[in-house]
Amino acid sequence: MTIRRMGHNSCTICGGRLQRIHRTFRERLSSMAKLRCSECARITSVPRRFTFLFGKESRCLSCGTYSVQRLVRRDHVDRLSTHPFSIISYLKGGRVHWCPFCRLQFYDRRPPLPKAAAIRRTAEEI
Ligand SMILES: [Zn+2]
Ligand SMILES: [Zn+2]
Repeated sequence: MTIRRMGHNSCTICGGRLQRIHRTFRERLSSMAKLRCSECARITSVPRRFTFLFGKESRCLSCGTYSVQRLVRRDHVDRLSTHPFSIISYLKGGRVHWCPFCRLQFYDRRPPLPKAAAIRRTAEEI
């Protein structure tokens, strides 16, 4: 699946504006964002995981929350992500971040958002 630069905001069929629509609990678990075209009503699913890698702030590679914490050092109890993003971030000098929901550690060069902002942003996007 290719995601075009404009793909997040406009319909690939008619070019109409895409609007985020409500998802069922099941769909939330499968990490898909749903968008509906305001013109032709076509519904597109976007794998949210893909969108986590962009943006200026750190977010969990698994669940997408912004409420991640920067660790002083790697914890050897919780698992460490083998996602290519984490590996590349590590090689480029990224710091260890930890998601309290997934108990997943990953490397990221982006700073985590302050707590209040992280909760707000997560509520808006997930
Ligand atoms: Zn359309
Ligand atoms: Zn997570």
